[in-house]
Amino acid sequence: MKKRLLSFALSVLTVGLTVISAGCSGKEKDEASDLNIIDDKYRNYYEVFVHSFCDSDGDGIGDINGVDEKLSYIKELGCNGIWLMPIMPSPTYHKYDVTDYKAIDQSYGTMEDFEKLIEDAHDNNINVIIDFVMNHSSSEHEWFVTACDYLKGLDGSDARSFEELAAECPYVGYYHFSREKETDKYYEVPGTSFYYEGEFWSEMPDLNYESEELWKEFEDIIAFWIDKGIDGFRMDATMHFEEGDTGFNTKVMNRVYEYARSLDPDFYMVSEVWAGEKTIASYYESKTDSLFNFDAAGPEGILLGAVRGNVKASRLVSSMKSYEEDFGSVYPDYVDAVFLTNHDMGRVANALNADKEAIKFAGGLLCSMNGSVYVYYGEEIGMKSAGSKDENKRLAFAWGEDKGVCKDPDDADPGIVSDFPGVNEQNEDPDSILNYYKHALKIRNTYPEIARGSITILDEATDGNKAVIIKSWNNEKIAVLYNNSKRGAVDITRKDIELIRKECGNPEASIVEYLTVDNGEIIFSEDGFDMPSRSIVFIK
Ligand code: CA
Repeated sequence: MKKRLLSFALSVLTVGLTVISAGCSGKEKDEASDLNIIDDKYRNYYEVFVHSFCDSDGDGIGDINGVDEKLSYIKELGCNGIWLMPIMPSPTYHKYDVTDYKAIDQSYGTMEDFEKLIEDAHDNNINVIIDFVMNHSSSEHEWFVTACDYLKGLDGSDARSFEELAAECPYVGYYHFSREKETDKYYEVPGTSFYYEGEFWSEMPDLNYESEELWKEFEDIIAFWIDKGIDGFRMDATMHFEEGDTGFNTKVMNRVYEYARSLDPDFYMVSEVWAGEKTIASYYESKTDSLFNFDAAGPEGILLGAVRGNVKASRLVSSMKSYEEDFGSVYPDYVDAVFLTNHDMGRVANALNADKEAIKFAGGLLCSMNGSVYVYYGEEIGMKSAGSKDENKRLAFAWGEDKGVCKDPDDADPGIVSDFPGVNEQNEDPDSILNYYKHALKIRNTYPEIARGSITILDEATDGNKAVIIKSWNNEKIAVLYNNSKRGAVDITRKDIELIRKECGNPEASIVEYLTVDNGEIIFSEDGFDMPSRSIVFIK
């Protein structure tokens, strides 16, 4: 803890110095590495699909050591957290079906590699959370194999209850077995009259959290990973522990969370509830830190809607306020988890027809949101996907050089070429999507109230494409101004500025930062100023 507080103090100091030197020299700001770590649960996460991110040993498959090599990239981007998609042994390329919950998949490296990654990440003030897939296991997990073997060995006339069978073979109790095909998501145990539930796939049998024996296994597994030094879990598919049973599912989430926190009081948890705002709100009954905000995300979500213009800025900010009210009323300590896309969605570049300015603006809007942001690897360079095939959403990251470049997942379609260059070239281009993202994340790191502040909408200054909000946190206030029109400036009037200054309690409040999609300048004047299309201004 002490180490983090000290580095916070140091980073505040260096942020101050950086701003001054940039102001004097007018040179490109030192965007790097002032992550401004505050010892709370707000972070900028980078979602990594290890398979496709960086290959350290030349076999074409990304690996743990590859992630380690690129920690400086992630840090310079402005992220201070990493979400690793599943790393445990699995027969599939995506690894959402685990065969051993206490190991690293061989193709990704060793447990020693992982321990080193955690150590190096922490040395860089980067937290690491891992995908935790406890709704189902792989059909090749020895629990399932043993249970099926046991059922296959039974006499067909055996009419004992599943409780009685589980008393003899506990693994039978770990899954949802039945003597009937209860739904079309039930599959036959080959050669028997038994069925099992597999909501996602026949090879992903659903686990049964009525089983205390299974809970003992998972408590042991949770303790194992916490002992390895992880900072939290990204919980997969938490709506599905019992289909449609929010009460049961939130209890499972809470039990995992409370057990983990008994071992590490700072443990963080973010869960996948792919549903509308009201359902997401109901899952905060779990009293766990974060739920992904699927209302804001995806091609049809509020954020990309605001980029396209079919969602006006005024509606964007009222959505921000309604997230605060809907989630906060259920669980006041919630930390929203906002994102544009993830590994299950088509990429931003596809949703926005590879329009560079639109892609930038999407990143800017994301980075102005409350909560923790999650950047899916490749969005910061405008990578492309294709169609609905999952493999096409998880292509090899474009470093822009041969070293470290992975091969695409085996079943990806060939020839999907991004409209934008790789990292190397984008780093050198002040007008690149990558440098826009760095700037947007840097602003977020410099002004912690952007992620944490409670929102007041300035109604008098908010209409259509123009919106102004004030965020307040810890005696700090910042105004965030939006123009989401595709073309055409909006007027920030003298009266708007007076209102902002009054709300901020600072008669001299002025522009401290802004984001424009063409690197155009915005010049503050007390008499009012123009905000160009697709711009965001920060006044403090
Ligand atoms: Ca490799």
